[in-house]
Amino acid sequence: MSEPASEPRSFLDRLFDRGLLIRTGVDGLYGRSGAFESVVEALDRLVSRIGGADGAEALRFPPGMARSSFERSGYLKGFPHLAGTVHSFCGNEADHARLLACLDADEDWTASQAATDIVLTPAACYPLYPVAAARGRLPEGGLLFDLQSYCFRHEPSLEPTRMQLFRMREYVRMGTPEQVLAFRELWLARGTKMMSDLGLPLAIDPANDPFFGRAGKMLANNQRAQALKFELNVPVNSEDKPTACLSFNYHQDHFGTTWGIQQADGTTAHTACVGFGLERITLALLRHHGLDLDAWPAEVRAQLFG
Ligand code: ATP
Ligand code: MG
Repeated sequence: MSEPASEPRSFLDRLFDRGLLIRTGVDGLYGRSGAFESVVEALDRLVSRIGGADGAEALRFPPGMARSSFERSGYLKGFPHLAGTVHSFCGNEADHARLLACLDADEDWTASQAATDIVLTPAACYPLYPVAAARGRLPEGGLLFDLQSYCFRHEPSLEPTRMQLFRMREYVRMGTPEQVLAFRELWLARGTKMMSDLGLPLAIDPANDPFFGRAGKMLANNQRAQALKFELNVPVNSEDKPTACLSFNYHQDHFGTTWGIQQADGTTAHTACVGFGLERITLALLRHHGLDLDAWPAEVRAQLFG
């Protein structure tokens, strides 16, 4: 008897087959192989080389942030559906016995978990703003920060490019509207050059964040109308729905007002950021140059590993 014709393997399945990503049983939560990590690390270094002369202050935070800062940031207004909170067992021995009984009976044991003071970081720059605000007024020239963090977003998906835990490299500029917009222009050009030098087809498109609910629709429309967010898109999962690999955001005075960040003259600071999705760029490279890193074009390998 002949085998039934098998479906073509999806990109995600081929990544699993090769061991580049490792299944955990949860969509969007994966292990990474050494080869995959070598590309992530090379991209991180490449971004540092491109932005290195700008004198950004590097800060690294763990992938969790203070719940109090998270609450003040406004994230729950815009994106309650994406947030991840850290809960822990805070009960006594009787509560522990109940927890174990639930586990034994295959019943939900999580009701006894209580919120801790930590939430998962939704974007690499979120822990930065309260730290910058606590330093007092910005110097005349404003400030520039270099960040990288694992980020959590509750958006389980079968698209390998939409993970629940992924790394975001960022530069964040704080200062006058002119300073932060000039920074965004600079990185639109640099990001485009970086990605086309890596042999990737791309387009820069206006974009919006996925604000929650009906009020969120208005926020999203406004973000587009004011050209506050651009994405650098590369076809990875499909040609007609390309994937945002870099994003360029002008927050106006949103974070400045939220956190009381002031310019040297006491007016509210404006901020902008450029974000690099390190796994997404890695996946774009694997998609376009193949799953065997050793067979990638020499120019691409030279830029990453040279
Ligand atoms: P999308 O529109 O695809 O959801 P986004 O607008 O939510 O992307 P940003 O919030 O601007 O993305 O995050 C900065 C960068 O982080 C993105 O350009 C992308 O490269 C990466 N990124 C965002 N969400 C994910 C995810 N779920 N998995 C992997 N990378 C992501
Ligand atoms: Mg998103």
